[in-house]
Amino acid sequence: ARLDARERQLIERRERLLGPAYRLFYEHPLHTVRGEGVWLYDAAGRRYLDAYNNVASVGHCHPRVVEAIARQAAVLNTHTRYLQDGILDYAEDLLSTFPAELGQVMFTCTGSEANDLALRIARHYTGGSGVIVTRFAYHGVTGDIAELSPALGSGITLPAHARTVRAPDAYRLGAAQVAATLAADVRTAIADLRAHGIQPAALLLDGIFASDGVFPEPAGFLAEAVAAARAEGLLYIADEVQSGFARTGERMWGFQRHGVQPDLVTLGKPMGNGQPLAGVVARAEVLARFGHSVRYFNTFGGNPVSCAAGQAVLDVIRDEGLQQRSAQTGAYLLAGLRALAARHALIGDVRGAGLFLGVELVGERTGKTPAALQTRRVVNAMRERGVLISAAGPQENILKIRPLLVFEQEHADLLLDTLDAALSALD
Ligand code: PMP
Repeated sequence: ARLDARERQLIERRERLLGPAYRLFYEHPLHTVRGEGVWLYDAAGRRYLDAYNNVASVGHCHPRVVEAIARQAAVLNTHTRYLQDGILDYAEDLLSTFPAELGQVMFTCTGSEANDLALRIARHYTGGSGVIVTRFAYHGVTGDIAELSPALGSGITLPAHARTVRAPDAYRLGAAQVAATLAADVRTAIADLRAHGIQPAALLLDGIFASDGVFPEPAGFLAEAVAAARAEGLLYIADEVQSGFARTGERMWGFQRHGVQPDLVTLGKPMGNGQPLAGVVARAEVLARFGHSVRYFNTFGGNPVSCAAGQAVLDVIRDEGLQQRSAQTGAYLLAGLRALAARHALIGDVRGAGLFLGVELVGERTGKTPAALQTRRVVNAMRERGVLISAAGPQENILKIRPLLVFEQEHADLLLDTLDAALSALD
């Protein structure tokens, strides 16, 4: 990458001040100064189509969200230990998007905290400690949750109370085998925990298995595994941090595509469009034991400014019809990506739900050998050509395409043309 002097200086300063744990996107990191709608702007004034950020999901700096934050910040910003209308109005509106049984919500600031809290609640409820996650799961960064997140790197050692199951990879297992394989793996994990004297507490699964490589299909494949876990007394925690808030198109929540009923649902990322807002939605019965024995206070979680942002996000999703647009633009993109697969042998599989898509690149289609190097080249070539995506999966050979919900067809066309050009340049 051709870095200019300013960029080299920023990178050096960042390493000196923030230390070595942070990672930048792209070989040529992006020096962002401004965002608007689907666009990010760099310091030179060049604009980039953002097909990756799932935080500014209703659009970068959406005027209604900005206005709601500014208005509330100018009036009152305390915390949840006072009586306030805003948090209750927002909680009611948010809960109305869930099945009726999921009737209570607790607010946090991050998805990691939400998963951490959900796990604590599940352990109180079941009296167990064991947790089942997928092999390349990512659920966050608190102590308890980081060790259940193998995607964080080789420094993660799975604790004795955890078991992993294979990702529901329809491309490799075959679509007809996914449900039964996942359920069998879950049953084996439960039996193995018990054999080691560990009582299982929870099955914790990402609603679209993003870090494992984006696995949405066939819809419904979760049902058998969830039923198996619940029959054994485990709670099912649906991690909707990535797959929630209309991302998967057909429904508001990823788990709904599978026709399953979670005991706990964790939310985050797009919830406040960038304002730190996350939470746990639960069945009241599940929350009761925890809530009556432990006090919970999260200083910033669900504060009035965050709730104002969250309310604005829900309003925008409804008023701008973003769930339908996610489904429509997502279907259009999926079809366009499948057309590209017909012309580029590197594309082994195309999959997606709504505006969450994965394009798996393989060395050759019969052996399905992960094409990690080419994937990195494509991601970086796209960035050079002004379109931002990333890669996922243990081998990082799956293009992860997660456009803002306000994507229009013209943006989808730009993404497809740019990917076509980037792939052609590789050939
Ligand atoms: N769960 C999933 C599925 C996530 O993708 C993330 C964030 N990438 C988290 C949890 C953690 O969220 P946060 O970064 O807000 O702590």
